[in-house]
Amino acid sequence: MPSVLGADVGGTKIAVGPVDPFGTQLAPPIVDPSRTEDTESFLTGLETTLRRAMAQFADYAPRAVGLACAGTVDSDRGVVVTSPNLPLREVSLAAPLRETFGIPVILENDANAALLGESVAGVAQGLRHVIMLTLGTGVGGALLLDGRLYRGVGGAAGELGHTVVQMGGLPCRCGMKGCLEMYASGPALARYAGARVRDPERDPGDVLLHLREQGMLSGGAVARLAREGHRGAIEAVQQLAEWLGIGLANLTNTFNPEMIVVGGGVGELGELLLHYARKHLLKNAMAPGKDQVRVTAAELGNKAGLVGAGLAAWDLVRSPSAAPVGGKAAAPGAPAPGPATCAPAADKTAADEPGLEEPASGGPGFEKPAAG
Ligand SMILES: [Zn+2]
Repeated sequence: MPSVLGADVGGTKIAVGPVDPFGTQLAPPIVDPSRTEDTESFLTGLETTLRRAMAQFADYAPRAVGLACAGTVDSDRGVVVTSPNLPLREVSLAAPLRETFGIPVILENDANAALLGESVAGVAQGLRHVIMLTLGTGVGGALLLDGRLYRGVGGAAGELGHTVVQMGGLPCRCGMKGCLEMYASGPALARYAGARVRDPERDPGDVLLHLREQGMLSGGAVARLAREGHRGAIEAVQQLAEWLGIGLANLTNTFNPEMIVVGGGVGELGELLLHYARKHLLKNAMAPGKDQVRVTAAELGNKAGLVGAGLAAWDLVRSPSAAPVGGKAAAPGAPAPGPATCAPAADKTAADEPGLEEPASGGPGFEKPAAG
C-alpha cells in the first residue's frame, strides 16, 4: 500500500501517520510532545519524531512528507514565515528535511490542510466551491474555489477571521478593530458568558462566576455548560452565532459557495451553534446564494491537520512541478485520488490551535471578561 506521511505540527504535540491517496489514515499516529523552548530544540525534536515515524511506518513505504503548521507558511519556499505557537521565524523546513530523509517534503498552512482533508475525506467530498472557517483561539479560514485552494496574489487569501464585521469594534491582535475573530472565537464565547454572571436566572448556582474567579472561564468550559443546558452559556452561544451569521452571510454573498464548513473547537458545538448561525445567515445574505449554501460542522475533527498534510504531500507526489521544494525527487505515477484538490502552496495565517481552553482574559488583544 503506497503512502505518504502526514504530520500535524502543533504547539503542544506533533502527530505523524501514514495516509493513503484517499485521505485514509492507515495506522494510528505517533504522537510526541513539541519542543518549543527555541528553534533548535524544536527542529531536533521534529526530526527525531519523523525518524521514528519513518522506522515505525516503513512497511507503508512513505513516498513524501506533508507538514501542517499554524501561521504564515510559504509552501513555495518551504519556509515557516511566522507562527503563533512554534518558535519559527523565517525558518526553512522542507529543504533540510528532504535532505535528511531523501523524499519530497511540503509545508501547508493548517486551515488549508483542514479544508483539503474535508474536501477529500470529510464532509465536503466531491464539492468544488467550499469555504472553511475554523473557530478556535483565533478564527482561520481557507477557500476552495473551482476545486482548487485559492491563495491570492501573495498567498495571503483566506484570512477570514480578520474581515471587519464591526467598524471601530474591539481591538484585534492583528492591529485592526472589529475583526470577526473578536466576535466568533473561543475567547469571545467566554466573554459573552462572563457578561452573564451575577444574574440568578442566567447563571444559576453562580457556575460561571466561580469559573471566572478561578480563571477557568474558557470557551471550552462555556461550550460544555451549553451542552448541559446552562441558560447563560446557551445565550452566549446564541450571541456568538449572531456574529458568525454575519460572517457566513458575507462569505455567501462574496463566493456563492456550495458549503461552508465550520471547524475548530467552537465548531464542535455543531447544531447547537449552527442552528442559530443559519438563521442569521438567511437574514443577512442575498438569494439565490443564501438558499444554495449548506453550513455544516467539520467532520475530521483533530485528524484534519494530519490527513490534510498527507493529502498535500500526495499532491506533491502527483504533480512535482507544482512545488519547487522537494519536487525533483518526487516519484511519478501515484494513484489518482477522488475529487480534484489543489496545488500545494500556502502563505497565510490560519486559526491558532483549537483553543477552547484559553481563559477569556488571556492573550494579547482580548479584553478582560466584563466585571460583574
Ligand atoms: Zn484581526
